[in-house]
Amino acid sequence: MTHPRYPHLLEPLTLGAGPDALTLRNRVVMGSMHTGLEDRPWDIDRLGAFFAERARGGVGLIVTGGYAPTKRGWLKPFASEMTNRLHAMRHERITGAVHDAGGAVALQVLHAGRYGYHPLSQSASARKSPITPFTPSAMSSREVDRTATAFARSVALARKAGYDAVEVMGSEGYLLNQFLAARTNDRDDEWGGSPARRMRFAVEVVRRSRELVGGDFPIVYRISLLDLVEGGQTWEETAELALRLQDAGVTVFNTGIGWHEARVPTIITQVPRGAWRSCTARLKQVVDVPVCASNRINTPELAEDILASGEADLVSMARPLLADPAFVAKAMDERADEINTCIACNQACLDHVFSNERASCLVNPRACRETELVLLPVPSVRAPAPSAASSEAAPMGAGPHDVARRPTLAVVGAGPAGLAAATAAAERGFEVTLFERSPEIGGQFRLAMEVPGKEDFADTLRYFGRRLEVLGVDVRLGVEATADDVAGFDDVVVATGVEPRMPAIPGIEHPRVASYADVLSGAVVPGRRVVVIGAGGIGVDVSVFLTHEEEDLEDWMAHWGVGDPALHEGGLTEPKPRSAAREVTLVQRKTTPIGIGLGRTSGWAHRAVLRQSQVTQVSGATYDRIDDDGLHVTVDGVARVIEADTIVVCAGQDSVRSLYDALDREAHLVGGADLAAELDAKRAIRQGTEVVAAL
Ligand code: NAP
Ligand code: SF4
Repeated sequence: MTHPRYPHLLEPLTLGAGPDALTLRNRVVMGSMHTGLEDRPWDIDRLGAFFAERARGGVGLIVTGGYAPTKRGWLKPFASEMTNRLHAMRHERITGAVHDAGGAVALQVLHAGRYGYHPLSQSASARKSPITPFTPSAMSSREVDRTATAFARSVALARKAGYDAVEVMGSEGYLLNQFLAARTNDRDDEWGGSPARRMRFAVEVVRRSRELVGGDFPIVYRISLLDLVEGGQTWEETAELALRLQDAGVTVFNTGIGWHEARVPTIITQVPRGAWRSCTARLKQVVDVPVCASNRINTPELAEDILASGEADLVSMARPLLADPAFVAKAMDERADEINTCIACNQACLDHVFSNERASCLVNPRACRETELVLLPVPSVRAPAPSAASSEAAPMGAGPHDVARRPTLAVVGAGPAGLAAATAAAERGFEVTLFERSPEIGGQFRLAMEVPGKEDFADTLRYFGRRLEVLGVDVRLGVEATADDVAGFDDVVVATGVEPRMPAIPGIEHPRVASYADVLSGAVVPGRRVVVIGAGGIGVDVSVFLTHEEEDLEDWMAHWGVGDPALHEGGLTEPKPRSAAREVTLVQRKTTPIGIGLGRTSGWAHRAVLRQSQVTQVSGATYDRIDDDGLHVTVDGVARVIEADTIVVCAGQDSVRSLYDALDREAHLVGGADLAAELDAKRAIRQGTEVVAAL
């Protein structure tokens, strides 16, 4: 039956034909994402549990993280590979877990090429990438030939392991992409020298794979539609490649945008939602097989719109399925307002993976810890019955005058830590009362969502707000809880958060000084010339907030220098300068480059926006005083004044603990109230959940 709200998204699709044909129950593909669980054999059941939870949540097809076809194709030393029968046997635990949960799963075969973080890495040519320390060796013609066969062997092993399909990773700047682009392929043998010869390796990989697995087994090829690097492919080359791959036996095209070394953001929050949909639409005009849209698609509405517009046949979402394993089930039940939306922050997923840590999710700390962070039902507590008659309700072993009831929990503070604690506790069965002194939930998160490019953060508050409602939490807004208010509860979680730190600079009480909270909340509207004190995450965000001018998708592309790949190699053109709404000077005491401590996979983009917005950056400053002229600083022993109409302080936070200190009972302190230093929502949400899971 056609779904009334998402008729295209929830429509089945059959890939291939014959005995190996695969019917997907809907058009949602959980895109490949390396989680770190792939790399250690003893994590295989954790990985199975991670995928099984998503399969139970209704996703059409899951694609695993990348598995190398050869050791030299490893992402890092001893990383995941699919190279022998033992691997295939071990993977039966994954395919079994997914199939038992009613899902379908494809193995991704990925050769890292020069992105391999190890000295054995190899590529088309011996050209080091700007993001890895190792120079790859150039593969000999024979090695290229053998590697194409190794790819095919991995594909066949995947089929043997029970996978329903495979995905050959041909985008994001990995080995196949390295062969395709002149940037990284200066060979003059049969594998390079002309666009057609550069395509040969990718085509051989698919041709040999098809030969080994037969006519029907679905082979997905992830094709790079926009390389976004100098010396990248033109659209003409991409279209020609797609046709050759289709002839060689590709069943479906998944799509990728941008190499990892590209200096255009492609998936983080500041990238407009659905920014790349037109690229998939263009591929769909070229090929006959189904195509799958990807990158910055995180709601069922957007996915449905892309499919309904005929721009794609499938939609790939990787991080959104990390954030909410039941994404599809909720869409199906018309409960999309209960989806825990991925906010594209990268903080707990890609930032972890690129730091060699296991991936998780900022808004869902259970991601990749499904078997470890479990919210078990809480046992009832026994309490004296109000009357003898109620003793009939007492559980076995209870006293004659006791009744069983749900334990009660007071959570004080509705910032990320408090929201996580309150919802996790209600899920466990606690009777939860949530106190918040502001008229709205959200705490520091509510400020963050005011930053241009962080609008998605509002979805996290929508999610928590709805979750509180669904779980029946008693929410008391505008109430500053006292020790008396929480005295009668069985347990108390204190999540009273933080307040902006005002450093002891002479003149800090000057009327031109405001905190970041005043500015982001709109309580203070800064003048034209602004000095920002403190260049941590919030100082950078506030500088972006202050300089930002409205931009639509076309402006956004122009500011980042994204052009038509039919006209510009790799889809890169000259960036159009931004105009800045204000003159901003961002100052810090440290001498390190500004913004260096920001997220590993997103910090560079935030730093680029500062440059694009002509934010003046001053490091190594000593703050002397503030007066009518502005901020007086000494830098390198030279005193100067930075003139300003407004001085915005972003110098970190202090914990708010007055309630906790006033309690004469045991309570659990979480989030910024526990530790303000380096507080972020990832730690707050995770701690709030973990504390409650252990109650
Ligand atoms: P933060 O990262 O700790 O930065 C505050 C900055 O204020 C420090 O870097 C410090 O720099 C300065 N400072 C500290 N004490 C000071 C004092 N007494 N006088 C003058 N300056 C002082 O804190 P935040 O910027 O408030 O951010 C809070 C948390 O949210 C952090 O964990 C941050 O990573 C996270 N966050 C991340 C992002 C992002 O990744 N995009 C965005 C927003 C927030 P100096 O000592 O060098 O002056
Ligand atoms: Fe999305 Fe951030 Fe979670 Fe990654 S950590 S899945 S980007 S919300």
